[in-house]
Amino acid sequence: MRDAELFQAALGLGESWRVVGSCFDADQRRLELRIDFEWGARFACPECDAAGCEVHDTTEKTWRHLDFFQHQAYLVARVPRVRCPEHGVRQVGLPWARPGSGFTLLFEALVMTLVAEMPVKAVGDLVGEHDTRIWRVVHHYVDRALAVQDLSGVTRVAVDETSFRRGQDYVSVFACLDQARVVFVTPAATPAPTPAFAEDLADHGGAAGQVAEVCQDMSESYLTGALEHLPEAEITFDRYHIKAQLTRAVDEVRRAERAEHGELLRHTRYLWLRNPRNLTDRQHDRLAELLRLPLATGRAYRWMLRFDGVYEIEDPDQAAAYLRRFTRGARRSRLGPIIDFAQMVDEYWLGIVRWWHSRISNGLLEGLHSLVQAAKRRARGYRGAEKFRTESRVYAAAAFSGGGAGPR
Ligand SMILES: [Zn+2]
Repeated sequence: MRDAELFQAALGLGESWRVVGSCFDADQRRLELRIDFEWGARFACPECDAAGCEVHDTTEKTWRHLDFFQHQAYLVARVPRVRCPEHGVRQVGLPWARPGSGFTLLFEALVMTLVAEMPVKAVGDLVGEHDTRIWRVVHHYVDRALAVQDLSGVTRVAVDETSFRRGQDYVSVFACLDQARVVFVTPAATPAPTPAFAEDLADHGGAAGQVAEVCQDMSESYLTGALEHLPEAEITFDRYHIKAQLTRAVDEVRRAERAEHGELLRHTRYLWLRNPRNLTDRQHDRLAELLRLPLATGRAYRWMLRFDGVYEIEDPDQAAAYLRRFTRGARRSRLGPIIDFAQMVDEYWLGIVRWWHSRISNGLLEGLHSLVQAAKRRARGYRGAEKFRTESRVYAAAAFSGGGAGPR
């Protein structure tokens, strides 16, 4: 087999195109494959697909292709424009590249595989292209993946706020609990993340009225958002957010008491706030010792353990009765932060006890954490004006778990 035929077969050029020559420059470490269409070939109009349009003129173009061993490979071709009776003069579609790209589809597929594993900047360095060119490819496929995603099956949703960098650039992440994937990301500074999500659902075959369950924290913006824009959804307040509030209450009691019993409570924060199961034997003993003393922190801690007990009850009615007893007792605890917590539970009662029916939490979003981390790492390689927008999109695309971002 001659070179041209070998390349011809490897490139899969189809009917109309032939490899007509190759030029190898060892010093430049560059292989150039020249391809051309058959004399007298006719092409379809890219607009209406009308076959057999005559070639009007041609322009020479070059595409970066997959490396040929250690050498960069390029395709060079005269690209024809055809004259369609209806649409006039148009550039034809090519089997190896999408319109406007300086890379072949296979090269773009390689790029999209690499950006799943490393920052865009690193991909640029690895393949020897400026990262702005790599970003252009990423934008294209991420946009396409976002545009074509099918949200018709989204009925149970969890939403949470997270940041790309500690304390900066907060985003609201909406996940479908049944498909275990992120379906929508929006800057949390958006006045109303939930209406934006409802709109996006409608744009992608879903419906806000179809959402039957939503899990979220107790913040006003999510609460108003769900009540007004997810009209059929039952709201479950995320148990991990509830627990976090109680943990903060215990810590508040400890900090207030430290003024009085400073020496005794020094370096004990960890003991009070960690799950007892995660304590070492020594820490356990120390905690037991502290609990024998008449400390306010110890009392607050016991209220926290009592609250934890509710999630061990299976039956919804029994759990509700237990929680009622808890809030009644906690309100009489004479511990300000614990009283506040009990009041909060009463105030948000319906969404808290909903858990025994829906059994949903934001735990899934934690599970997607590794993907989110990967997305953050990827986004880090970017510098430029529309950084935030790009990061959000890359974030969303990563969370698709490879579902459709890429040329093939
Ligand atoms: Zn046409």
